[in-house]
Amino acid sequence: MGDDRSAELATVHSEILSCTKCELHRNRKNAVPGEGPVDAKIVFVGEGPGQSEDEQGKPFVGAAGKLLTELLESIGLKRTDVFITNIVKCRPPNNRAPRKSEIEACNPYLISQIRLIKPQIVCALGTPAIATLLGEEYSATKVHGKPMPKGDITILPMYHPAAALYDASLKEVLASDFRILRDLLADTAARDVSVVKDAQEAGSETLEKWV
Ligand code: URA
Ligand code: SF4
Repeated sequence: MGDDRSAELATVHSEILSCTKCELHRNRKNAVPGEGPVDAKIVFVGEGPGQSEDEQGKPFVGAAGKLLTELLESIGLKRTDVFITNIVKCRPPNNRAPRKSEIEACNPYLISQIRLIKPQIVCALGTPAIATLLGEEYSATKVHGKPMPKGDITILPMYHPAAALYDASLKEVLASDFRILRDLLADTAARDVSVVKDAQEAGSETLEKWV
């Protein structure tokens, strides 16, 4: 099961590496599919690869990535515990914002990744990721730190770590939104335990009827 999912995720990633569905493929050195375990409980979605990411083919390896790693560690998580990707997988020239048509062309890859990973929580980093996952009317300023249930998944919007590199006051906001992430994870873990307990109790009742 896990093996099927990793094979399917690997297929999606190899499609991304040779993708020419939008203009962004023209200037890329490397497409950046994303990385992390296929059974990750949390997926982080950023805006798009920058220069370091384009050079290395890996997400969040520059200055913003360093801050993301620190924020994860501040709530007891390692970078390798989570899946990290972006709304567009190829670097926009000179780090311009990705265009709507590019985000739309790339979106099926993000959807496939989320479907295969089935995370509990998707953290949308920055307004372009938030608007892509929740709708155009949402922005980091309006909804950061507010968990939004969407089907089986909870979307947690946050400021982009790069914004906190330019505006120090946002760093504390981001740190406090990461504590919300930590509490959400603890809540889902507690719910899973009670579901298991309910199932066990239901199971023993059923057993009693038959033995
Ligand atoms: N910023 C992003 O949005 N994504 C990255 O992968 C790196 C920096
Ligand atoms: Fe394909 Fe996405 Fe890269 Fe555009 S950004 S070329 S849609 S992988």
